[in-house]
Amino acid sequence: MFRQVVSISINIIMLSKDQFADNHFIRSIIEDDLQNGRCQQVITRFPPEPNGYLHVGHAKSICLNFGLAFIYDGLCNLRFDDTNPEKESDEYVRAIKEDVQWLGFKWHEEHFASDYFEQLYEYALELIRAGKAYVDDLDAEEMRQYRGTLTEAGKNSPYRDRSVEENLDLFQRMRDGEFPDGSKTLRLKIDMAAGNINLRDPVIYRIRRVHHHRTGDKWVIYPMYDYTHAISDAIEQITHSLCTLEFESHRPLYDWVVENITIAHQPHQYEFSRLELLYSVTSKRKLNQLVTQGHVSGWDDPRMPTISGMRRRGYTPQGLRLFAKRVGISKSENVVDMSVLEGAIREDLENVAPRMIAVLNPIKVELTNFDEVLTQSRTAPFHPHHPEMGERLMPLTKNIYIEADDFALDPPKGWQRLTPGGEVRLRYSYVIKCDEVIRDASGRVVLLKCSIDHETLGAKPQGRKVKGVIHWLSTEHTVPATVRLYDRLFTQPRPDAVRGEDGQYVDFVEFINPESVTEIDALVEPAAQTLAPEARYQFERLGYFVTDRYDHTPENPVFNRTVTLRDTWQAQADK
Ligand code: ATP
Ligand code: MG
Repeated sequence: MFRQVVSISINIIMLSKDQFADNHFIRSIIEDDLQNGRCQQVITRFPPEPNGYLHVGHAKSICLNFGLAFIYDGLCNLRFDDTNPEKESDEYVRAIKEDVQWLGFKWHEEHFASDYFEQLYEYALELIRAGKAYVDDLDAEEMRQYRGTLTEAGKNSPYRDRSVEENLDLFQRMRDGEFPDGSKTLRLKIDMAAGNINLRDPVIYRIRRVHHHRTGDKWVIYPMYDYTHAISDAIEQITHSLCTLEFESHRPLYDWVVENITIAHQPHQYEFSRLELLYSVTSKRKLNQLVTQGHVSGWDDPRMPTISGMRRRGYTPQGLRLFAKRVGISKSENVVDMSVLEGAIREDLENVAPRMIAVLNPIKVELTNFDEVLTQSRTAPFHPHHPEMGERLMPLTKNIYIEADDFALDPPKGWQRLTPGGEVRLRYSYVIKCDEVIRDASGRVVLLKCSIDHETLGAKPQGRKVKGVIHWLSTEHTVPATVRLYDRLFTQPRPDAVRGEDGQYVDFVEFINPESVTEIDALVEPAAQTLAPEARYQFERLGYFVTDRYDHTPENPVFNRTVTLRDTWQAQADK
């Protein structure tokens, strides 16, 4: 009669082609390229900079890049774009790898842009020899003045016409550490009058004496992003290099670089719009600020829109992939409401999360006519649509707990739960009637004395309708648990876009919701003590919860609320 559910692992990775966004413009381009022989095998890459943990926007990019490789039987590399040593670290590299794997993806090759430093240097020499790059002595401020504006052409640097020999010599000495930081740069010689400012002799190398997380102190010159990215894509034979729209105006530079060096493969860049999530921030720099200023407990705080935070909150890889599919891929603005994210998570959890009963805010109920012989207990399924998950006994005893919210002394109109003199059904059990309310000196309700209608176990009550059904736990079959209830992290839909009276942006941390987490002592079924960390359950009528990845132990169960059962965002917006 009583079968204990085996701990359900919902992290079994099974990808299928229909899990990814369909019919978008990048898929059309790829299909065309494959059909017309412009490409034999799709090779994409996901290129994070290891300067923070990945967030929900990166999840979109991961699902796109790995998804396309999956759909078209291609390959996807993981490449760390590590050309800004001051902000990068091995901790971020490890976290990024873990997040990509957790989302369900396997990369083909793992690369670091820093592994290409020697090759990038050789290509720079090639460009210098061809008269296409020069060493400049202008400082940052002068360079800005020479650059011109959107409406005005720039001016050539006085150092632009140095001879190849002089440039080769100076660039070698830059590498050898003869010049101070910032005193010289290597620039491409393109066109200071180009309409696209990115083509006005962009800097491709700068001098920075900073320890690099992989190359240590070997280099004092570091290549710039655009130059590095284009060549790294070419070296790895990336066929479709996908990035967000702000790089659209960098594409001519990307193309210029790969066309002007000797390399067999010519990759192409395509841009799509960045995901922005309302009531959240999606920028590693801003997430870093939340962490370093102590507004959250860490990068993986369950309120963070980071992949590790969402994991700890109880989100599933499948749910996140479903979300990425729903937000789609396009070039138009991609500002998405939290309800879309939560909807996808809920949809996945509904099917895979077994049920459990918890009482978050208990009041005691004494069943006055409880009878050891007459009163029976029933079993409850772990999932209403998955009998294979098993069932367990819900032992009814003389004393039980119900949720304080399920009782009202003075009920509003339409109330279907318990009231003085009213009736309600205990889930998986009898209909009970509230005969007496015991209050303490302060008027607080401390005990409800109720009677059982013994004719109602699995049967409708005679001659009347009882609509309400409430959950409960036997006082003898329950264990305490810490439950953390989470709400939105910000009180503003776009916390990083609010301007003050002076017209300046207000620091987004001003809009942190002080009630974004509440910790309560609750009561749960004893089975909670058998759960491993990251076990996902639905607490009936209350929401989806997960045992905390770090703090949960069998002795002290800790649950995080992943998401409520219904969309509470609209309700809050209507208030
Ligand atoms: P951040 O400002 O958060 O650091 P980023 O774009 O600088 O973001 P990268 O580490 O360079 O972060 O990003 C790796 C890949 O993820 C890039 O191809 C980038 O375009 C993509 N990406 C980053 N943020 C988003 C987003 N919000 N939506 C979609 N793709 C994104
Ligand atoms: Mg960045």
